[in-house]
Amino acid sequence: MTSASIVTIGDEILIGQVLDTNSLNLARALEEKGIHVSRMLSIGDNREDIKATLEAETARNAVVITTGGLGPTKDDITKSVLMELSGSKSCVEHPGQLEMVHRILKNRGLDVLPANLQQAMVPDTAEVIVNQLGTAPIMVFRNLPGGGTLYALPGLPHEAVGAIHDVLEDICSHQHLGKILHRSIMVYGIAESALSAKIAAWEDALPADIHLAYLPNPLTGIRLRLSCYSGEKADASERMEFQIATLKQLLGNLVYADADSDLETEVGRLLKESGKTLSAAESCTGGEIAHLITSVAGSSAYFLGSVTSYAVAVKEKVLGVPSSVIEKHGVVSSEVAAAMADGVRNLTGSDYAVATTGLAGPSGDGVNPVGTVWIGVAGPHGTSTVSRCYKNDRKRNIERFAASALDFLRIVLEKEL
Ligand code: ATP
Ligand code: MG
Repeated sequence: MTSASIVTIGDEILIGQVLDTNSLNLARALEEKGIHVSRMLSIGDNREDIKATLEAETARNAVVITTGGLGPTKDDITKSVLMELSGSKSCVEHPGQLEMVHRILKNRGLDVLPANLQQAMVPDTAEVIVNQLGTAPIMVFRNLPGGGTLYALPGLPHEAVGAIHDVLEDICSHQHLGKILHRSIMVYGIAESALSAKIAAWEDALPADIHLAYLPNPLTGIRLRLSCYSGEKADASERMEFQIATLKQLLGNLVYADADSDLETEVGRLLKESGKTLSAAESCTGGEIAHLITSVAGSSAYFLGSVTSYAVAVKEKVLGVPSSVIEKHGVVSSEVAAAMADGVRNLTGSDYAVATTGLAGPSGDGVNPVGTVWIGVAGPHGTSTVSRCYKNDRKRNIERFAASALDFLRIVLEKEL
């Protein structure tokens, strides 16, 4: 398997000023292609460090990707270190990147300074992939003494991410990579440990060339990804589909999507396909559910709107939750969640409605544990509720509440539509 090393360069990472998202995005993309990331390193803007690190990494790995230190400022020294390492005596102007420098600065209404023109000057030992998003070119060094190929990418995250596609294409055309197949399903409503126990026997029986990865995310649940490392074999795809089908059978309605997806997209798909509409009434989630739903393009086809009914008075006056219900059962209760869902459904005339009432923390109500949420879903076939309890901080709890509400709604929709 081809091995790669990722080296991020910049003092700002080491002093905690910037979170190194470049390594994360690069590692994810490399791994998807079946390239094994052996190391990630972060080093400062220090000539000796950069030189020693790149020497060592190119000796160990077929591919080394650096980000950062290509800019026009004095602290950006990656390019000059790479000149030295690759034995370059001079730089040559790269017409494609020069044009890009002019275009980008013109678009930003900025003068072209000598330092900007310098960006299009590239060591004569490097090949260039034109950076479409910024002034610093992406440089490829195939002739370093260590033997590995080095790709120097800009530090700015959107430029680094923007370069990934071209860099991977170059890697694939120069390295002998085996074909890798990936297949994902999305699961929600079960802890990783319980999931792992549930599918242990199936996982143990997987063929040697098929691997399972758990990719958890609090908002979207767990992505279970199968990878087949003998993708070039004729029956690879068939064998993967067989394993996916068995897995789906084992997990039943814990599976909410047959590909990489998220709950808001799947809820949207169910509503759109059936021509039904949705509204929301949110207390403890404060608009998070509406935000998630409306982050899906085309959600105006099915989402009518929401009420952030944080105060009891709004629950009563706007949603029509009877004060007697609140007095009798408390705000955080199944009855209030149901009445909120019914209320917003009546108010908006939507087919379905989802509601939340709970305690995101840190303070509680003295009755329910902090982290408790009641979720109500109302629809043409009645109203149902469910409660969940999470033990995270306030922000995480809110995210979990919203995701759980979408999941409960998804289960109701799957049953009824
Ligand atoms: P520029 O032309 O903007 O100077 P550059 O290639 O020189 O680009 P740097 O100066 O090292 O890159 O970084 C530019 C900015 O990108 C930094 O100020 C920092 O905010 C961000 N950045 C750098 N490295 C990373 C990283 N690994 N992860 C996330 N952000 C980063
Ligand atoms: Mg810079």
